[in-house]
Amino acid sequence: MKNPAVIVLGQTSVAVARRLMQALPNATLYGLAGRTIEVDVSFTDFGATLRELFADGTPIIGLCAAGILIRTIAPLLSDKRYEPPVLAVAEDGSAVVPLLGGLHGVNDLARQIAAVLDVQPAITTTGDIRFRTTLLNPPSGYQLANPDDAKTFISDLLAGSTVRLEGAAPWLSESKLPIAHDAPLTLQITERNGCPAPDRLVYHPATLAIAVSHLSESVVEVVQKILEESDLAIASVAGIFASVNEMGHPALSSLSQALQVPIRFLDLFNAEDIALAAAGESGQLLASQQTSELSCAIALSSQPIDVETIGKPRGQLTIVGTGPGGEKWMSPEVKDVLRSATDWVGYKFYLDLAGSLREGQQRHDSDNREELDRARFALDLAATGKSVAVVSSGDPGIFAMAAAVFEVLEHDAKPEWLRLDIQVAPGISAMQAAAAQIGAPLGHDFCALSLSDILKPWSVIEQRIAAAAQADLVMAFYNPISKQRTWQLGKAREILLQWRSPNTPIVLARNLGRPGQSVRVCTLEQFSPEDVDMRTVVLVGSSQTRLISRPHGGVWVYTPRRYE
Ligand code: SAH
Repeated sequence: MKNPAVIVLGQTSVAVARRLMQALPNATLYGLAGRTIEVDVSFTDFGATLRELFADGTPIIGLCAAGILIRTIAPLLSDKRYEPPVLAVAEDGSAVVPLLGGLHGVNDLARQIAAVLDVQPAITTTGDIRFRTTLLNPPSGYQLANPDDAKTFISDLLAGSTVRLEGAAPWLSESKLPIAHDAPLTLQITERNGCPAPDRLVYHPATLAIAVSHLSESVVEVVQKILEESDLAIASVAGIFASVNEMGHPALSSLSQALQVPIRFLDLFNAEDIALAAAGESGQLLASQQTSELSCAIALSSQPIDVETIGKPRGQLTIVGTGPGGEKWMSPEVKDVLRSATDWVGYKFYLDLAGSLREGQQRHDSDNREELDRARFALDLAATGKSVAVVSSGDPGIFAMAAAVFEVLEHDAKPEWLRLDIQVAPGISAMQAAAAQIGAPLGHDFCALSLSDILKPWSVIEQRIAAAAQADLVMAFYNPISKQRTWQLGKAREILLQWRSPNTPIVLARNLGRPGQSVRVCTLEQFSPEDVDMRTVVLVGSSQTRLISRPHGGVWVYTPRRYE
C-alpha cells in the first residue's frame, strides 16, 4: 500500500490529524493553503489534489464531511479493484467512516485509526470481508484470473463449503479458509492457463521471465504465439528482459504494452542467459526460440519475480519548464513529471520554486552557471536507470536547459545517453507571462533575445538588436542585466534609439508569478537600466504598439495584428 495522505481543510483539524497519524507513521499531512500551517504539503485546489492522489492509488483520509469526498472523487469511480482506500474522519475525530477501497484494506485502516482516536469505526461491510480480501485481492505477485466467479465462490464458502488448494499460495496459509482435500471448491495457483470456473478460482503467479534479443517488429506476435503454444498464461509474465544494448528499441515498448508488464535491462546478450538470470537461482528454461527475426526465451521462477530488483529500467530524462513562478502557471504535464521523477536536477532557486519533494525523491542543486556540466550529470544519472527531471524556469527550450542537454548529447555522443527516453515538457515563458499581465504586446511579429554575452559575443547581440529594430519587430530581452554585466542594457537602448521613436513603449516585468511581482510601462526615452535586474524581462514595442489608458490608472499595451 502507498503511504496515505491525510487531508485537512482548516487549522482546527490539524491536531486530530496528527493524533490519527500516530497510527500511520508514513502518512503525509496535506493542508489547504491559507487555512493551515505546519503541514507537510500545502495545496490550493482541493478537488484537483484529491483526484490526483486518488488516481495515483494513494490512500486518502479526509478530515471533512463524507459527502465532500464522495462528490469530488465520484467522476473517477469505475473499477473497485483499483480503488485505494478512502476514509472520512469527523473534524473532531468522533467518527471514522471507510468509504471506498474495500479490496485494498480500508476497513483495517479504519480500525487502526479508530483505535488511536478511541472510537468505534463505522464499518458497513458484512462479515464476509475477510474471505473477500484474501480471495479477491491477492498480494502483489498474484493475479486472480476469474474475479467474476468469486462472488458465488465466496457465498458457497460462507454457506459452509470447503476448499482445496492446488499449487503454492503462501498468503492463504494464514487465512481461516476451511481447507479439505476432498473439497468441492478449488483454488488453483498456476502459470498455465488453467480452467477458471465458478467452483475453481485460478491465480496466476508472476513467475515467468520473458527475454528477447535481436529484436524486430514482429516481436509481439512471436511472443504471444510461444506463450500460447507452451500453454503459459499472459498474466503470469512478470516482465520483459533484454540486453542494455536494445534499450530504446520501439519493439520493446510495443511488447511491454501488449503484455502490460515492465521492461528491465541486463548486461547480458543471449536471450536464454537473460531469462535465466531474471528467473533467479531456481529458474528453469520453459521455451526458447531463435529465428532470423528474433531470439526469445522464457524461464520459470519458483517464486513471483520482483521485477524492480532485476537489472535496471530504461532511464528517463525530461527537461521541464515550471513557468515563470507560481504553481498556476505550471502545466499538468510538468507537475506529473515532477511527481513521478526519482531525481530533480537544477539551479537551487528553480528547484525551490518547483515545490516540495515526495518521499524517496532526490534533489541535486547546482550553481546556475554550469549548464553543460549539469546536463552531463543529469544524463549520467538517467543512464543508471533513474527518472530524472531537469528543471528550468519558464520554458525549458527558451534560454534554458533543453538546448544544453542536446548540446552535450551531440558533442559527447555517449551511446548510453542516446538510448535514454528523453522528453521536453514545455512551460510558459517569461515573455508570455509578461505580455499577459499588461495586455497583448506580443500580438504581432516579435523576437526574443538574450542580452547575455557570456555564451555569445556582444557584437552578435548588437547586430541582432539593430536588425530587429530595423525590421520593426517587438522584442523581448531576457537576461537583460546582471552583477557582472552592467553596461549592456544601456548600450542596447542606444542602438534602439537609432531606429525607433523615443516614445516606443517599454514593459519592465519583474518577478512574474512570484512574490514581489511588478509590471511597469515607460517609454524608450524614459527607460533607465537602473530599473532592471536579472529577474526582469524587458519588452520593447514596435512602431505599431499602442497604449490604452485604464479608467482608474495604469495602461494596457498591445500590438495590433492588422496593418492599416
Ligand atoms: N527559460 C526561461 C528564461 C530563462 S533566462 C523562460 O522561458 O522564461 C532567465 C531570464 O528570464 C531572466 O534574466 C529574466 O529576463 C527572465 N525571467 C525568468 N523568470 C522570470 C520572471 N518570473 N519574471 C520576469 N522575468 C523572468
